[in-house]
Amino acid sequence: MTKPAYRGRFAPSPTGELHFGTLLAAVGSYLQARSRHGEWLLRIEDVDTTRRVPGAADALLSALEDFGFEWDGEIVYQSRRTELYESALAILADKDLIYPCTCSRKQLAQEHQDTPGVYGGHCRHRHLPVREAHALRLRVEDRLIGFDDPVRGHYQQQLARDCGDFIIKRKDGLFAYQLAVVVDDAEQGVTEVVRGVDLLDSTPRQIYLQQQLGYPQPDYLHLPLLLDAHGNKLGKSTGAAALDLSRPALSLHSALELLGQDPPEELARSSLSQLWQWAIEHWDHQRIPKENLYLNPH
Ligand code: GLU
Ligand code: ZN
Repeated sequence: MTKPAYRGRFAPSPTGELHFGTLLAAVGSYLQARSRHGEWLLRIEDVDTTRRVPGAADALLSALEDFGFEWDGEIVYQSRRTELYESALAILADKDLIYPCTCSRKQLAQEHQDTPGVYGGHCRHRHLPVREAHALRLRVEDRLIGFDDPVRGHYQQQLARDCGDFIIKRKDGLFAYQLAVVVDDAEQGVTEVVRGVDLLDSTPRQIYLQQQLGYPQPDYLHLPLLLDAHGNKLGKSTGAAALDLSRPALSLHSALELLGQDPPEELARSSLSQLWQWAIEHWDHQRIPKENLYLNPH
């Protein structure tokens, strides 16, 4: 069998304006794809409609255009793909892998004080009659799931110990990110996922879901995170400033610098097409730093 051609993607959540951390993920995934003559898809991850900010998706797309990104195919919106997620859920239900969970947030916090974020399986064997609103959890098996990341090296988790059964459909009826992202990556034929290292510990769950759904497993590359002066992830929640769109080449130059690509100084003043040409030609993922990054504005 021939290996499918490279297909990458950028999957931002439209929760605010494009900030520098988002730009890094866009640049990293774009160059990883274009330097391999691969495709680069765009997916708006608006599955969590409660976090959607009106106009944010359009603002994001127009910012990406201003930076000279060129994507392949139609843009996919998760909010329009509920049927796909329902079919995946049905497959998991057929395999008896899901069960309702009515634990409240407070209950979970109390029960798992020593292991925050790990679900101890309280509802696993309760066979709850489903009357009230409830979340759906996926049973995990007691085995090790690992993968090799070109930047981070080998990473693995014992899902039963490190996370426990996890939610794939929320109490409010919305599908969880973990399920949506796995269905979409498979359905869109993505061969490598390039994204921020804040999602590194989601990857074993996603691989587990791929295994249960019979999907191929893409490769994964996790980029370093951009932190503010207080060591918080740069993002809307920490009040990160939106990107200055008036000098896109300058911002892209900084992004290349942060990603360890050592761009020549004059590239910051060149045209976008010259900048991209240089970046695609010289992209070397082995130079991506492992350490977190700090924004050092020009
Ligand atoms: N939508 C996620 C975010 O903006 C990224 C998900 C992914 O790349 O898998 O943080
Ligand atoms: Zn429960």
